[in-house]
Amino acid sequence: MNNWRENDSKSVWHPFTAVNMDTVNVPIVRGEGAWLLDADGKRYLDAISSWWVNLHGHCNPYIAKRVAEQVMKLEHVMFAGFTHEPAVELATRLLEKMPEQFTKVFYSDNGSTAVEVALKMSFQYWFNQGTPKRKVIALEDAYHGDTFGAMAVGGRGVFSKPFDPFLFEVEFIPTPVSGKESECLDRLSQLIEKEEVASFIYEPLVQGTAGMQVYSSAVLDKMISMCRDKGIVIIADEVMTGFGRTGSLFAMDQCEEKPDLIALSKGITGGFLPMGVTVCTEQMHQSFWSEGEEGKMKTFLHGHSYTANPLACAAGCASLDLMEKPETWESIRRIEQQHTKFALEAAELSGVAAVRHKGVILAIEYGTGSQTGYFNSLRDRLYDFFMERGIILRPLGNIIYIIPPYCITEDELNLVYSAIREFRI
Ligand SMILES: *Cc1c(COP(=O)(O)O)cnc(C)c1O
Repeated sequence: MNNWRENDSKSVWHPFTAVNMDTVNVPIVRGEGAWLLDADGKRYLDAISSWWVNLHGHCNPYIAKRVAEQVMKLEHVMFAGFTHEPAVELATRLLEKMPEQFTKVFYSDNGSTAVEVALKMSFQYWFNQGTPKRKVIALEDAYHGDTFGAMAVGGRGVFSKPFDPFLFEVEFIPTPVSGKESECLDRLSQLIEKEEVASFIYEPLVQGTAGMQVYSSAVLDKMISMCRDKGIVIIADEVMTGFGRTGSLFAMDQCEEKPDLIALSKGITGGFLPMGVTVCTEQMHQSFWSEGEEGKMKTFLHGHSYTANPLACAAGCASLDLMEKPETWESIRRIEQQHTKFALEAAELSGVAAVRHKGVILAIEYGTGSQTGYFNSLRDRLYDFFMERGIILRPLGNIIYIIPPYCITEDELNLVYSAIREFRI
């Protein structure tokens, strides 16, 4: 198609994009390593892994090869009544990397569906036992996705406003960032004393969309163990934190206490194909089991057309192969060290109000006086400043963050730091 660039604004509706702004979307024609190339030949360093999905670089040749092999064998088959090797291999290998109580993997398409599945499983867990419960506890400013259930357990604000009347009721407690731990724990203990709570959902250790808010594994352990004592179903949304982002394969690896359900997506296929999974414990799975006819009534009646797509599963297995390589972990450690060093420097830069880092994630928050939030004018200035310099840093309001593919080199990461140094508020 010759005029595809012109036809973009005519025929395509882009996400999170105001329709009155005549936004020109950058036409990307190639990806290689940490770089994207546009139709005019300009290169962009993808410092945020294309919305956090890309782990090993664009067009990683190994994953590309594995997906190409799979596409010649089996592109798709419905997943009820049928199965295939890539789905079984990926599930088996994911479970091998988790504590032994996790025994089943349920496939879906994306992060939001992985969360929806976890929520529906938790409600049906109680329903199947004849003691339905409907209260959910979540963290303030949480983000769990854009479908209705996922939206309901996310912090309410400008994104959810048109839909607020349709969202089920959720009790939000403060995120236990430093200084707010005891407020959070007090609120949690009051809630679980007086309410019949079905589940507790959280983004472990780092709340991504909230601006990379970091909190400690110690306080999370306390929260989980309080919920555990009451039999509350514990749901970890590791859609962003999974696959090395916090410095361990999963964020839960840094905690003593484990959840009952885990939502994974984003990095799971190395950024090649859409996929979500919900991992569950044997105890959760058992609550869907019953003898004979009664068993049918307990079935989890949920599925998506593209459930366990073989190409996505093949990409997932290939990405796991790369996650198992020592070189990948050497890169993760090196990125962590570079971030740790730059964080000290960044805290002294003019206009910087706070710096947070965890694993390969580094967030820098600029002070804005009274104006904060997603629609802050500083957001556009930041975005444009870095794009002009060929660096993709899509800010969350007045907060910029780096969450790079692990193939980013020391020099490439230094390019990002240099640009940040140059920015004047
Ligand atoms: C991105 C994200 C989601 C939603 O995933 P999608 O694939 O965009 O639907 C859910 N939870 C967390 C923590 C996320 O970062």
